[in-house]
Amino acid sequence: MKLLITNGHVIDPSAQLNGGRSLLIEDGRIAALLSPGEAAPEGCEVFDASGLVVAPGFIDMHVHLREPGHEHKETIASGCAAAVAGGWTSVCPMPNTDPVNDNAAITRYMIEQAERAGLANVFPIGAVTKDSAGSELAEMGEMKAAGAVAVSDDGRPVASAGIMRRAMQYAADFSLPVIDHCEDKSLSAGGVMHEGRISLLLGLKGMPALAEEVDVVRDLLLAKETGAHIHIAHVSTKGAVEAVRRAKQEGIRVTCEVTPHHFTLTDEAVAGLGDGHSPDSAYDTNTKMAPPLRSEQHRQAIVEAIADGTIDAIATDHAPHHADEKALEYDRAPFGITGLETALGLAFERLVHTGIIGIERLVELCSTNPARIFGLEGRGTLRPGSIADITVIDPTLEWRYDAAATRSRSRNTPFDGRAFTGKAVATIISGRIAFRLP
Ligand SMILES: [Zn+2]
Repeated sequence: MKLLITNGHVIDPSAQLNGGRSLLIEDGRIAALLSPGEAAPEGCEVFDASGLVVAPGFIDMHVHLREPGHEHKETIASGCAAAVAGGWTSVCPMPNTDPVNDNAAITRYMIEQAERAGLANVFPIGAVTKDSAGSELAEMGEMKAAGAVAVSDDGRPVASAGIMRRAMQYAADFSLPVIDHCEDKSLSAGGVMHEGRISLLLGLKGMPALAEEVDVVRDLLLAKETGAHIHIAHVSTKGAVEAVRRAKQEGIRVTCEVTPHHFTLTDEAVAGLGDGHSPDSAYDTNTKMAPPLRSEQHRQAIVEAIADGTIDAIATDHAPHHADEKALEYDRAPFGITGLETALGLAFERLVHTGIIGIERLVELCSTNPARIFGLEGRGTLRPGSIADITVIDPTLEWRYDAAATRSRSRNTPFDGRAFTGKAVATIISGRIAFRLP
């Protein structure tokens, strides 16, 4: 089976490619890159990508797919359907399922469920400690052999520096990155939003920026000593990006990601202020996540770090919750929002159309770097011979997000009804069109 994606603008930072090319796909792999005007080989299905950007498939390094255990929020199949609709060819689910993904059997189960669904690729992230309880190390080697690409206790971060040090040494033995959700719970306990002027105004308990920064600095020191590769999840504060920037200059093996909501919204959204919000949307629990939406000063620091290369990746932290759970009062509602279908729209709105970054850097943040960080062989690139995972984007397409039409099982998003310019119009996985805008 042959597919020719023709007339497109191919952008692949891994091959310093940025221009008009046709992509020939054969047996699920990139067979050749043809120059404009070169004749199509016979017997190809042709995909006309005129006016479109053709990029290596986007990889979301941080999602929650809820299966096994919380299938009323999301299943691997529904999460993967939302992923391909958002332009993601691969997603990496965190281990906070029930049971926790702390062993090879669960890791394998997740991959099998994804294969059954036949949509996005799933590369699971295993737990650092058994049951993510923070005491006994999980069987990292066995999970890696089963297909895990990194380890993390994500929302239940390893509190003990001693355990984290051993975890990093162990993970380094298996060449597995350790992903840190940096939050010192002794500083953030009971908090439901960013600690600052708005939390005071609303009378809600705050989570200080310090809770994130203390943990970032601790783990950078541990990474320096152990030589482990650490990946800081969803950086959200000025101090955190400054610490990562310095650590990179020092040669510490650190990478980091940012979420679209942290470079788009601030804590004002919790009060129903700014960015198209209205005061009657104050206390909307779809503005509650961990780390919380920070103040404008922090948001700006994040955007600068995206522009200067300190931040390596954009990841959604897609965290589906059932409407009944999010309908609780602000203090009691669970943390997290969905994000797979809105990420690209927000990246265009805040980063590309504002001139902060070009599309080439966007591809690096969503594909090249995630593939490199997780060591995903043959992905994040369009070089001949690589796997034909491809994201086709229309940077000028105007559309509106309708959460009621989401492919996810959950609709907990602060971006329902938002107008965007720029969207993935096709998602191709191993040469097969898994999603195409009608
Ligand atoms: Zn997290």
